[in-house]
Amino acid sequence: MDIRNIAIIAHVDHGKTTLVDALLRQSGQYRDNQQVAERVMDSNDQERERGITILSKCGSVVWKDTRINIVDTPGHADFGGEVERILSMVDGVLLLVDASEGPMPQTKFVTAKALKLGLRPVVVVNKVDKPDARPDEVHDEVFDLFVTLEANEEQLDFPVLFASAKGGWASRDSSARSGDMSALFDTVIEHVKAPTVSESSAFKMLATTLESDPFLGRILTGRIESGSVRENMTVQALHRDGTRAERTRITKVLAFRGTGREGVTEAHAGDIVALSGFSTATVADTICDLEVTEAIPSDPVDPPTLSMVFSVNDSPLVGRSGKKVTSRLIRARLMDEAEGNVAIRVTETENGDAFEVAGRGEFAAWRAD
Ligand code: GDP
Repeated sequence: MDIRNIAIIAHVDHGKTTLVDALLRQSGQYRDNQQVAERVMDSNDQERERGITILSKCGSVVWKDTRINIVDTPGHADFGGEVERILSMVDGVLLLVDASEGPMPQTKFVTAKALKLGLRPVVVVNKVDKPDARPDEVHDEVFDLFVTLEANEEQLDFPVLFASAKGGWASRDSSARSGDMSALFDTVIEHVKAPTVSESSAFKMLATTLESDPFLGRILTGRIESGSVRENMTVQALHRDGTRAERTRITKVLAFRGTGREGVTEAHAGDIVALSGFSTATVADTICDLEVTEAIPSDPVDPPTLSMVFSVNDSPLVGRSGKKVTSRLIRARLMDEAEGNVAIRVTETENGDAFEVAGRGEFAAWRAD
């Protein structure tokens, strides 16, 4: 099956979730009467609370024999190299903009990176059904933004669709007020290149995101750069300098199917997959066949910028509030967070009753339960 990999960039509330739901419904993977139970892009509760994306999630839709993997992008500014790594999985970006609000400054950062990487943008001006919509002006504003961000000629010649994600339609014509999503599917397939894969038959994948699953353990997601990966295959993880992080057996190959992930026996170059079976491998490592000696070039994960010591409450108010009242419980909670969060590093103090947690300034939003 042909593949297209695109990232979606959208300011909060401009309709990303509604758009992806509409694409899923119309891509023929669901029976007409079947509800799309889960909203793909927004399923992590903690994340919704904070309004940012930590795990970059994927969805996938099939249109006329092409699988389109849709990757969510972080809405926040930077986690050193994270945005580049996510964008390195895709060959195009879908910039979704509200037809009355226009492009928002908060999306500029990711858009600028995407343009710099040479990715082709497809612009969707959404909510054109709203009474205060000004689709043509917003189209011009996006063009001006791309000029400011030094887009090249090809990028400035971007296709634009005028849509109502809520109404389930998108059109190349700014006066359209009905229809379906075919024009958007066709535009993505036509304008976004098929993934570039290397000729080598050796399996190689750059680990782009890390998460921790209660059953599968560490899960690393990335785009397969060359070769194929199979369940039970023995692989290694290489650090950025090419030294080996670990050697292991892949326990699961998960491919993105609609809103969820499904175990597959094998996946090939170009596809985006999640792999389990690791104990130490992490983001920015290269997962590959044993004979590979060179890691895929990537930016390092930013080192922590601040740290705090966590310990048992020994104040006069001890016992009055809080659930994590022993060092053991505090340790378990911190280690659990560190397992699935590359931004955090936990070190135990010598006597074992306090923990130094180093991170990048997101502590305030980080809940202890
Ligand atoms: P997200 O934060 O980008 O994922 O935005 P959502 O998809 O959750 O949409 C935010 C709000 O905008 C919701 O209330 C949607 O129903 C509404 N919305 C999304 N698309 C459209 C549209 O095309 N037209 C109108 N009028 N409202 C929309």
